[in-house]
Amino acid sequence: MKVITTIKEMQSEIIEQKMNQKSIGFVPTMGFLHEGHLTLLRKAREENDIVVLSIFVNPLQFGPTEDFSTYPRDIERDQALAESVAVDYLFFPAVTEMYPSPSSVRVMVQERTDVLCGKSRPGHFDGVATVLTKLFNIVMPTRAYFGNKDAQQVAVVDGLIQDFNFPIELVAVEIVREEDGLAKSSRNVNLTAVERSQAKVLYVSLTEAKRAIDQGERNVAKLKALITEIIDQESAAKIDYVEILSYPRLMPIEALEGTFIMAIAVKFSKVRLIDNFILTIKNESAGLRR
Ligand code: AMP
Repeated sequence: MKVITTIKEMQSEIIEQKMNQKSIGFVPTMGFLHEGHLTLLRKAREENDIVVLSIFVNPLQFGPTEDFSTYPRDIERDQALAESVAVDYLFFPAVTEMYPSPSSVRVMVQERTDVLCGKSRPGHFDGVATVLTKLFNIVMPTRAYFGNKDAQQVAVVDGLIQDFNFPIELVAVEIVREEDGLAKSSRNVNLTAVERSQAKVLYVSLTEAKRAIDQGERNVAKLKALITEIIDQESAAKIDYVEILSYPRLMPIEALEGTFIMAIAVKFSKVRLIDNFILTIKNESAGLRR
């Protein structure tokens, strides 16, 4: 595995690989790798000749009161984990390499940002889209791998790839969870012991809502109330949002139909956690017609 810190070197390595007709699988991350990231990397390894992992905690996508400075970092551990899944290139640029001077152009996301994390984290998806535009131009991937844990991000990246005509195949990967159901996240280490035991409530509440849906519940307001009640009863977390929207368009719905997302964000003392289920209900009215 080659560790590369400059944009120039990364680009010239990729250009050489591309001249040799190699396909490039790319997994952009903020590091402090866990099994979720490794799952993306293994899939990229299976499907491409060359695998590139980037580790960059992107200041542009953090708000002024968010956890940029306390975001966990451990590059040596990450390097060993990346080696263990046969990454070819680890791209690990400094902030000054990615943003040498205040940027003269930024990418602005127009759609789907007035809901979920876009609503509570203003500017977040502009920061994500800007850094990904740069990373896509640096790594020039054939396929880029993203986790459904950040389902809104997947939808936004899909828009970015289509609108800006990146010749990249977007691959979305299922959420990887801890044994108690908590979605794996680099931020989980910043939970206190008590918070960590309560944090499974995100998965538990979504599972209960799914059970209600399986039993015939179709009322969005009732399902949101059920999720909210479980989180409030079983944890000290403060709810940021509980939403049920169409997916991937992220439009409001009143009754469940087609593919939709049940998404939650909660805040513990130092950590904001998110989780979601993406579900599909086949057209039921067809069956009811006489
Ligand atoms: P991050 O380092 O948190 O920015 O995540 C980098 C990539 O890994 C993103 O595409 C995430 O959606 C994905 N990811 C993070 N956690 C998980 C998880 N538990 N399961 C699947 N993918 C994940």
